[in-house]
Amino acid sequence: MNFGTRLLHNGNELDPHTGASSVPLYQASTYHQADIDHPGNYDYGRSGNPTRQALEQTIAELEGGWRGFAFASGMAAISTVFFLFSQGDHLVVSRDLYGGTFRVLTDVLPRMGIRATFVDTTDLNQVEAAIRPETKAVYLETPSNPTLKVTDLRKAAGLAKQKGLITIVDNTFMTPCFQRPLQMGADIVIHSATKFIAGHSDVIAGLVVVKDEKMAKSLAGLQNALGSILGVQDSWLTLRGLKTLKVRMETSTATATRIARELCRIPEVHHVFYTGLKDHPGHWLQASQADGHGAVLSFDVGSAEQVRNILSRVRIPIVAVSLGAVESILSYPARMSHAAMPARERVQRGVTDGLLRLSVGLEDPDDLLEDLIQAIRGVHKVCTG
Ligand SMILES: *Cc1c(COP(=O)(O)O)cnc(C)c1O
Repeated sequence: MNFGTRLLHNGNELDPHTGASSVPLYQASTYHQADIDHPGNYDYGRSGNPTRQALEQTIAELEGGWRGFAFASGMAAISTVFFLFSQGDHLVVSRDLYGGTFRVLTDVLPRMGIRATFVDTTDLNQVEAAIRPETKAVYLETPSNPTLKVTDLRKAAGLAKQKGLITIVDNTFMTPCFQRPLQMGADIVIHSATKFIAGHSDVIAGLVVVKDEKMAKSLAGLQNALGSILGVQDSWLTLRGLKTLKVRMETSTATATRIARELCRIPEVHHVFYTGLKDHPGHWLQASQADGHGAVLSFDVGSAEQVRNILSRVRIPIVAVSLGAVESILSYPARMSHAAMPARERVQRGVTDGLLRLSVGLEDPDDLLEDLIQAIRGVHKVCTG
């Protein structure tokens, strides 16, 4: 069955006890054990919950992995995965990285003796050169945030495997609708389900899918030990959001493609970052490893002052952190997602003071485009008038 059908019919959509068309909220912390010698499938809510499990099995099925896990946030998911490593271990990590992940890797993990080297993973020579005897994993984001650099997933995972390392991919921007890293050789896939998967700016959630049984055992142990599980209500909301993932991704991507092309024609926009544009250096690679270019694009308007003017003029997108929702979200990475990063590191990664990131929602494309153009053109008047 194809992806759109599997979103709705994957074996986890019905309540096995009643046939209810939506898995109920099993709002319980503990489970009665009728026979102490033969414990039931569930004993305690941290270790297992049927609503959360329906979500975990659904994402495992959609990513094509052995087992899925749901966490209290994307960062809880990422941090729990990092607990697979031990003192003395080293990771090679994409330089263009979500700010929160960068913070854990630079502020928290070094205190536990786990270190990371950040490289441009679009250049596999840099990945290879950063590998040390104590390296255990390669950690990738592709396309990256917010400049949308594309890493070759098959080649990176191939190199990692050859060196005896595991490959971890943050698949938040693409979702399994467009990109399935486990099928290209990755071992672990992570999502901030807060974004496209839940999709409605009303849940904070994280998901992990692992490729094999051994890794599933390790991660299940960590999820239960550390306890950063996703709550029942949020598991239900995430399952609910997931059902419309394909139509949301496709519609938003079509609008994003149109907006990216139009922004290229506006002189006030210095550069547009979108893999759907043919002159993007990762365009063909993206097309070879993903089924779409996604709903996120970035554009540079030259200065912080221009950014301020645009943000005050724009009427349709909400001005906020985050992405991947039904409503369009305009973000200012230098002051939002990448604020935790020192200015030099930030600019090195292309996150300049004039860079805006747009996550395209489901609004009418004509309305959205008209609004963006009036906001940007207004800037032009301010500058020359
Ligand atoms: C938002 C985000 C995260 C963190 O997820 P939270 O749900 O906010 O904890 C991680 N990676 C990427 C790419 C993100 O966009």
